[in-house]
Amino acid sequence: MESVTPEIANYIIIHYLGLLTEPEMIALKHHRHSLKLRELPDSELRNKIYLRNQWLTDEPEILAQLDEGYVEFILNCAERVLRDNPNKVFFNLCLQCGKLARTPQAKQCRFCGFDWH
Ligand SMILES: [Zn+2]
Repeated sequence: MESVTPEIANYIIIHYLGLLTEPEMIALKHHRHSLKLRELPDSELRNKIYLRNQWLTDEPEILAQLDEGYVEFILNCAERVLRDNPNKVFFNLCLQCGKLARTPQAKQCRFCGFDWH
């Protein structure tokens, strides 16, 4: 597989979450909870609770991973996962059109409809 695209990065984050390092997991959790918090009214107490429960982090080294935005972050994670685990990620490519299936277990292509059951 050539360069990592956001689609490939998403596939890895969803299906190979266990291959993330602890700092990557903390940053991912932080991002997801910040999105949730953005929908709620500002509350200092809520922020404190989130920090205490480690749903958010205030560690600069962890937050630095998100400096260039979420997409850049998952691209970096995916590249690192592939570098450190060259044989663990199975790219389920369609036998007909060569595109990436939705999951490692999928047996039908979401792009061309090809079925390999
Ligand atoms: Zn296909």
